[in-house]
Amino acid sequence: MQEQYYEELGMTEKELLEKYPFTTLKNIWSLELVEGNWYGLIPTGWRKAFGKELLEEMTAEYDTFSTEYRHYWVVEEIKEKYGELRIYTGPTTNNMLEIINKYTELSRHRCIECGEPCKQRNVGWIFTMCDKCFDELQNRTKRKK
Ligand SMILES: [Zn+2]
Repeated sequence: MQEQYYEELGMTEKELLEKYPFTTLKNIWSLELVEGNWYGLIPTGWRKAFGKELLEEMTAEYDTFSTEYRHYWVVEEIKEKYGELRIYTGPTTNNMLEIINKYTELSRHRCIECGEPCKQRNVGWIFTMCDKCFDELQNRTKRKK
Protein backbone atom coordinates (compact mmCIF):
# COMPACT_ATOMS: atom_id res chain seq x y z
CA MET A 1 0.00 0.00 0.00
CA GLN A 2 1.29 3.44 -0.90
CA GLU A 3 2.04 5.71 2.01
CA GLN A 4 -0.32 8.56 2.66
CA TYR A 5 1.07 12.02 1.85
CA TYR A 6 -0.38 15.17 3.39
CA GLU A 7 0.20 17.91 0.88
CA GLU A 8 -0.86 20.77 3.17
CA LEU A 9 1.82 19.70 5.67
CA GLY A 10 4.37 18.57 3.11
CA MET A 11 4.64 15.34 5.10
CA THR A 12 4.16 11.64 4.67
CA GLU A 13 2.20 9.77 7.31
CA LYS A 14 5.47 8.54 8.83
CA GLU A 15 6.75 12.12 9.15
CA LEU A 16 3.43 13.25 10.60
CA LEU A 17 3.57 10.55 13.28
CA GLU A 18 7.16 11.49 14.12
CA LYS A 19 6.49 15.20 14.43
CA TYR A 20 3.02 14.87 16.01
CA PRO A 21 3.07 11.53 17.85
CA PHE A 22 -0.22 12.36 19.57
CA THR A 23 -2.01 11.90 16.24
CA THR A 24 -1.42 8.14 16.42
CA LEU A 25 -4.72 6.29 16.54
CA LYS A 26 -5.58 4.53 19.78
CA ASN A 27 -7.98 1.77 20.55
CA ILE A 28 -10.53 3.73 22.60
CA TRP A 29 -11.14 0.83 25.00
CA SER A 30 -7.64 -0.52 25.62
CA LEU A 31 -5.84 2.80 24.83
CA GLU A 32 -3.26 0.79 22.92
CA LEU A 33 -1.76 2.49 19.89
CA VAL A 34 -3.00 1.14 16.59
CA GLU A 35 -1.75 1.65 13.06
CA GLY A 36 -2.62 4.93 11.40
CA ASN A 37 -3.44 8.46 12.52
CA TRP A 38 -6.58 10.44 13.24
CA TYR A 39 -5.43 13.63 11.52
CA GLY A 40 -6.06 12.06 8.10
CA LEU A 41 -9.71 11.48 9.04
CA ILE A 42 -10.32 15.23 8.84
CA PRO A 43 -11.93 16.06 5.46
CA THR A 44 -9.41 17.30 2.85
CA GLY A 45 -10.66 20.88 2.53
CA TRP A 46 -10.49 21.49 6.25
CA ARG A 47 -7.01 19.99 6.45
CA LYS A 48 -5.94 22.38 3.69
CA ALA A 49 -7.64 25.36 5.34
CA PHE A 50 -6.32 24.94 8.88
CA GLY A 51 -4.78 21.49 9.41
CA LYS A 52 -1.33 22.75 10.27
CA GLU A 53 -2.56 25.43 12.71
CA LEU A 54 -4.86 22.90 14.36
CA LEU A 55 -1.98 20.46 14.88
CA GLU A 56 0.34 23.17 16.20
CA GLU A 57 -2.21 24.48 18.71
CA MET A 58 -3.21 21.03 19.88
CA THR A 59 0.45 20.04 20.26
CA ALA A 60 1.19 23.07 22.43
CA GLU A 61 -1.60 22.05 24.80
CA TYR A 62 -0.77 18.33 24.64
CA ASP A 63 2.84 19.14 25.59
CA THR A 64 1.60 20.44 28.96
CA PHE A 65 0.02 17.04 29.79
CA SER A 66 1.70 14.67 32.25
CA THR A 67 2.82 11.27 30.95
CA GLU A 68 -0.09 9.65 32.72
CA TYR A 69 -2.61 12.10 31.30
CA ARG A 70 -1.17 11.54 27.82
CA HIS A 71 -1.76 7.84 28.24
CA TYR A 72 -5.47 8.37 28.95
CA TRP A 73 -6.05 11.19 26.47
CA VAL A 74 -7.65 9.83 23.33
CA VAL A 75 -9.33 11.07 20.15
CA GLU A 76 -12.43 8.93 19.90
CA GLU A 77 -14.00 10.13 16.70
CA ILE A 78 -13.61 12.65 13.90
CA LYS A 79 -16.45 13.49 11.58
CA GLU A 80 -18.47 16.06 9.73
CA LYS A 81 -21.80 16.76 11.41
CA TYR A 82 -24.32 19.47 10.48
CA GLY A 83 -21.71 20.86 8.09
CA GLU A 84 -19.01 21.30 10.70
CA LEU A 85 -15.91 19.47 11.90
CA ARG A 86 -16.43 17.47 15.06
CA ILE A 87 -13.49 16.13 17.03
CA TYR A 88 -14.57 13.96 19.93
CA THR A 89 -12.02 13.15 22.62
CA GLY A 90 -12.18 11.34 25.92
CA PRO A 91 -11.80 13.51 29.06
CA THR A 92 -9.71 16.53 28.17
CA THR A 93 -8.64 19.96 29.41
CA ASN A 94 -10.63 23.16 29.00
CA ASN A 95 -7.85 24.59 26.86
CA MET A 96 -7.98 21.62 24.50
CA LEU A 97 -11.77 21.96 24.29
CA GLU A 98 -11.41 25.63 23.43
CA ILE A 99 -8.94 24.84 20.65
CA ILE A 100 -11.22 22.15 19.20
CA ASN A 101 -14.28 24.42 19.41
CA LYS A 102 -12.39 27.20 17.68
CA TYR A 103 -11.69 24.97 14.68
CA THR A 104 -15.24 23.58 14.67
CA GLU A 105 -16.41 27.19 14.35
CA LEU A 106 -13.83 27.88 11.61
CA SER A 107 -14.89 24.80 9.65
CA ARG A 108 -18.36 26.34 9.11
CA HIS A 109 -16.75 28.96 6.90
CA ARG A 110 -14.39 26.80 4.84
CA CYS A 111 -15.22 24.46 1.95
CA ILE A 112 -15.01 20.81 3.05
CA GLU A 113 -13.64 19.86 -0.40
CA CYS A 114 -11.11 22.55 -1.27
CA GLY A 115 -10.69 24.70 1.86
CA GLU A 116 -11.70 28.01 0.25
CA PRO A 117 -13.81 30.44 2.29
CA CYS A 118 -17.51 29.75 1.73
CA LYS A 119 -21.01 30.06 3.12
CA GLN A 120 -23.01 27.13 4.36
CA ARG A 121 -26.10 26.15 2.42
CA ASN A 122 -29.04 24.26 3.74
CA VAL A 123 -30.67 22.01 1.16
CA GLY A 124 -32.36 19.58 3.51
CA TRP A 125 -29.04 19.06 5.16
CA ILE A 126 -26.17 21.45 5.64
CA PHE A 127 -23.38 21.64 3.07
CA THR A 128 -20.26 23.60 3.87
CA MET A 129 -19.06 23.93 0.32
CA CYS A 130 -18.02 26.68 -2.08
CA ASP A 131 -20.12 27.24 -5.23
CA LYS A 132 -17.57 25.51 -7.45
CA CYS A 133 -17.36 22.31 -5.39
CA PHE A 134 -21.13 22.29 -4.84
CA ASP A 135 -21.75 22.51 -8.61
CA GLU A 136 -19.28 19.70 -9.22
CA LEU A 137 -20.98 17.58 -6.60
CA GLN A 138 -24.37 18.18 -8.21
CA ASN A 139 -23.00 17.30 -11.65
CA ARG A 140 -21.53 14.07 -10.30
CA THR A 141 -24.85 13.20 -8.68
CA LYS A 142 -26.80 13.99 -11.86
CA ARG A 143 -24.58 11.80 -13.98
CA LYS A 144 -25.24 8.80 -11.75
CA LYS A 145 -29.01 8.95 -12.37
ZN1 LIG B 1 -14.62 24.21 -2.65
